[in-house]
Amino acid sequence: MSECIFCEILAGRAPCHRVYEDDLVLGFMDAFPVAPGHTLVIPKQHAENLFEIDADSLAGVSRVSRKLALGIRKALDPDGVMVMQLNGAAAGQTVFHYHAHLIPRAQGSTLSLHPRIPGHAEELENWASKIRFALD
Ligand code: 5GP
Ligand code: ZN
Repeated sequence: MSECIFCEILAGRAPCHRVYEDDLVLGFMDAFPVAPGHTLVIPKQHAENLFEIDADSLAGVSRVSRKLALGIRKALDPDGVMVMQLNGAAAGQTVFHYHAHLIPRAQGSTLSLHPRIPGHAEELENWASKIRFALD
């Protein structure tokens, strides 16, 4: 049992709504979405933050972020997609396994970063399946 929730997800011991997976990276829905379609991209190799992550994992997260942003755009048609990545508690990081947020944005919408309102499983899976279907 790892103390890292994202390592638990990677090991299949904690649930998630998967969008994409390859040998280096996993993409899945944020359990507390700040916008419809809020997706996380993580390296399979545990690294706390940008200061710790290895170059191949970082390149993998970057490549998959673009792939999933294209899928999100096709599936959900947002006005924009925000990529956000926090390093250290002082920067607002709350899960200490490197991750990039892909946050679909609507024109004029405001954003509350850690609302801690859980998404409904059905809704999360609906977004995940739409994005999965839209991936090239
Ligand atoms: P941070 O604040 O560290 O940049 O973002 C951590 C993100 O992980 C938050 O947006 C939070 O909602 C999400 N999160 C925390 N615990 C879980 C979990 O168990 N499952 C999933 N899918 N997301 C989580
Ligand atoms: Zn981890």
